[in-house]
Order: sequence, then C-alpha cells, then structure tokens
Amino acid sequence: MDDLICVKNKNLIFSKGFYVYKGLDKKTKELLYIGTTIQVPNDRFRWHRNNGKDLLFDVIKICDNGNDMLNCEFQLIQKYKPKLNKITHRKQNLNVLLSDNELESRKGNPYWCQKCLKRHVNAGYMYCYNCS
Ligand SMILES: [Zn+2]
Repeated sequence: MDDLICVKNKNLIFSKGFYVYKGLDKKTKELLYIGTTIQVPNDRFRWHRNNGKDLLFDVIKICDNGNDMLNCEFQLIQKYKPKLNKITHRKQNLNVLLSDNELESRKGNPYWCQKCLKRHVNAGYMYCYNCS
C-alpha cells in the first residue's frame, strides 16, 4: 500500500498543481475513491463534501503534469477498484478534466455566471444576460 501514503509535507499542497488524492471511509478507513485535481486540494475536498462525498481526503501524489497525474490515477483505480469511482475501465480525458476543473473553480466566483459558469457577469449580478 506504499502507493497510498499521504504526502507528508502539507506546505506543498496549498497551491494549484497536479494532484492525485484518495478518499477513505471516515469510520472504517476503507479506500472508497481515487481522484485528481488541478485546483488547490482543500478547495476540491470542500467541493466534494458539499456535493455529498464526505470522505477522509488526502493527497497521495504530486505530479509534474496532467498526463502523469491521470496515468497514476488510472493505475490506482485499476489496482484498488474503489467503490465510488465511476470511470474504471479507461483513463480520464485530460482536456475534459481540465475544462471540468476550470468550470468547477468558477463556482462561487462572482466574476462568472453562477448558472452556466461560462460567461462573465457585470458587477452586482449573479447570472449572465443569457441565464437571467
Ligand atoms: Zn449564464
């Protein structure tokens, strides 16, 4: 299980990067999820919790680029088959992942329309002209 050891130096994970993380059951410590993010990991973990995935999250690998990150994720998913991973038979698509991450990172940012997440909004508005 060496490949699931948490990154010890927490100072390394306070900025955006290429991260692989695990999610454990809070009680049993069973591995339930392997994920990747290019956001600040704590932001990503908070987002999971707000969306019903309340696990014990921890970064297990810091990669140099998106491809390494997705290869590592795929290997671990194949090896451990965590219950909450939906895509298990293929690597995630980097472009899709990057754009999903980009959109996710706009949530809560008043600069972006909070309905479509794709258009800017004028100061003081929640939604763009298309969504309002
Ligand atoms: Zn919109």
